Amino acid sequence: MSARGVVLAGVGGQGVVLASAVLAEAALQSDFEVKQSEVHGMAQRGGAVVSHIRYGETVASPVVPLASADVLAAFEWAEALRWMPYLAPRGALVVDARRIVPPGACKDHRTWGVPYPAMDAATVADRAADVLLIDATGIAAGLGNPKAANSVVMGAVSRFLDIADVAWEKAITRFVPPGTEELNIAAFHAGQEAGSVRPEDIPDLGLDPIEERNYRIQVDHSWCKDCGICPTVCPEFCLAMDHAHRLVVVDEAACIGCRLCEALCPDFAIRISVGEPAAMSGGAS
Ligand code: SF4
Ligand code: SF4
Repeated sequence: MSARGVVLAGVGGQGVVLASAVLAEAALQSDFEVKQSEVHGMAQRGGAVVSHIRYGETVASPVVPLASADVLAAFEWAEALRWMPYLAPRGALVVDARRIVPPGACKDHRTWGVPYPAMDAATVADRAADVLLIDATGIAAGLGNPKAANSVVMGAVSRFLDIADVAWEKAITRFVPPGTEELNIAAFHAGQEAGSVRPEDIPDLGLDPIEERNYRIQVDHSWCKDCGICPTVCPEFCLAMDHAHRLVVVDEAACIGCRLCEALCPDFAIRISVGEPAAMSGGAS
């Protein structure tokens, strides 16, 4: 058997590296030789992360050549388009139907005039044998934690690879955070069953024109990793990093509800809602 090639692509915080480790381990558990390589780039700032995995009886190189990946799995739409040249014409494209707008593309935060490519599976249909656009984040959220979206995606990927479920389950158990094994295995199996969705049925974040209202800013500090993205992109300076490099809400009343912070947070840790700002007690965070 010639080596199989898989390309996993997403942005910082989506668990691409963990998903890559799970696939590599599942292939090892199946007695294949495995080679893997990753590019992280500006991952912590919402930048692209890509991982190549090749496995088979013998594998010469860790890099998947152009136009030869058996599967391209993307954790959001623009990254699917970015890495399409790696997919073989006979290959399968799996995409979580999410849009993560790169910070540099957020030029017009009041109207969301964002130059982001239209999500339309038909545009790639003739470039892959199979196209599976799934609501991985929604499925994972329904199971209890949207962060398990990467396991949903890998479940969908497994449909196109010759690796047994028992190997996947061992690999997931080895690599996911302790206490989340059951959730991630459930997410993986949900991905194996997931059907294609229409992009218009996926709720989008922050893409509506802004209304003049009061907004609440809520940060879940148990999920926030203090990456610093949201203070960087907030156009009204509502957010900041304190002396200990911890995220703090400094001016909730100035929030205009653009939801850039919400759309760009890689960890689902910040939420904007309509309502009276909290008293200046820091209670919003
Ligand atoms: S805190 Fe408010 S103004 Fe700042 S990015 Fe978030 S929604 Fe926009
Ligand atoms: S809430 Fe802000 S600082 Fe915390 S993880 Fe999200 S983007 Fe990073």
